[in-house]
Amino acid sequence: MISPSGRQFTGCDHREPLRTALKVHGELGARQTGGRLFPMACVSLEITQRCNLDCTLCYLSDRAELAKDVPLPILLARIDMVFQHYGAGTSLQISGGDPTLRKIEDLEALVRHIRSRGMRSCFMTNGIKATRTMLERLAAAGLDDLALHVDLTQERKGYDTEVSLNEVRDAYIQRAEGLGLRILFNTTVFEGNFTELPDLVRYFRKRADAITLISFQMQADTGRGVLRERDGEITQSSVTNAISDGIGIPLDFDAVSVGHSHCNRYTSLLVAGGEIISPLTNRLLIEDAIAALDDLDEREEGNLNVRRTLRRIAVNKPTLALRLLGEAGKWIWQLRRGLLRSRGRASRMSILVHNFMDASKLEKSRCESCVFMVATENGPLSMCVHNAERDSHIFAPMRIETESGPRWWNAETGEMSQRPDTPVNVAHEIIPRKRLKGRMKAEQVKVHSNMKDIKKRAGRNNT
Ligand code: SF4
Repeated sequence: MISPSGRQFTGCDHREPLRTALKVHGELGARQTGGRLFPMACVSLEITQRCNLDCTLCYLSDRAELAKDVPLPILLARIDMVFQHYGAGTSLQISGGDPTLRKIEDLEALVRHIRSRGMRSCFMTNGIKATRTMLERLAAAGLDDLALHVDLTQERKGYDTEVSLNEVRDAYIQRAEGLGLRILFNTTVFEGNFTELPDLVRYFRKRADAITLISFQMQADTGRGVLRERDGEITQSSVTNAISDGIGIPLDFDAVSVGHSHCNRYTSLLVAGGEIISPLTNRLLIEDAIAALDDLDEREEGNLNVRRTLRRIAVNKPTLALRLLGEAGKWIWQLRRGLLRSRGRASRMSILVHNFMDASKLEKSRCESCVFMVATENGPLSMCVHNAERDSHIFAPMRIETESGPRWWNAETGEMSQRPDTPVNVAHEIIPRKRLKGRMKAEQVKVHSNMKDIKKRAGRNNT
């Protein structure tokens, strides 16, 4: 059977697993979008464990950089696996480590393959090596989104406040200008920048014409980073309050739910000519719209196709369509001065606050209803779980189909074999000093300077 979109109808509802998990854990309220409007918010495809930075809250493991880069055919098969699980429209994040450390030809092949499956591609990088030429080639290959991670945890030389990094953010926006990419900024919120949050948000507000999403990740004790658990001052409410303060208008972070309430907070803004409004104020209308969208038979698709869905609402739910039109009229009226200045041009900026879990404190209900997954050898896995047990996934033997049958790739050696090798026990591997990062590097530096002190003192005593 062929669906109205021309795609083969499989009869499978990709949203069902998430919807069931959210229901089981009491999170399928009337304003829940997970499992209704989308089967998964985002899936990360880690294409390298190497990185050109050493963030103080890095989620990579101490030994992650011992893993060789996953071969392209395995990554292409993983994209297919994600498509089978979640269908078209799913956002696939090409990440790492830093994905810019791989060959541009590999990156182009991944972007093209994601597009050929009708999914969205997002390139997640610290931006250092994301040159204009690289971005042009990726945009030409069909890249949709560029997610830029910039914050103080990266310890970039010459920047000692969060706000001073706006210079880097400006340069990145300029580098991507005119390529048709949606720009997303990721910021880790930790004790070192928490008090600067309202000022940072004021900057994002000023650049809202160029930015589609600002995402804040709260400090979590996972990975090799030298910082550990977050300060008690940093909570979901203190972060959302600081953001509202920076935007300068009250924001409702509970009008729409995206997955588990302890994991995510979401809101959205409309911007035109310097004016900004929050469109998510009518909770009753939001509930009715979500229920109506849930009712529409979209099961052959992964995520909602907004234009087609609006057409269907107009035909099938005329009363709701009229109420939505009335609401849109209200937004236009509130934005009227800005719209005059911008000659009718308005844009949307979304805000997401993401509360990752500490590796030693994973909560079953949240892991089971996770909306941010990592594509692994054994299927999609909650990002918090993946970060907590990273080595067992990145060093697991990976199956690859060849003309002479299946082979298994070994991430430690980078070689193929006919049988899956027993995973190496990387816990005992010695890391070459120049590749040490995170806590292990910090410990070595400490030992090294202690030794220097001891030698210095011994020298003084001998004279
Ligand atoms: S990655 Fe962790 S914090 Fe994020 S949605 Fe999944 S379980 Fe929740």
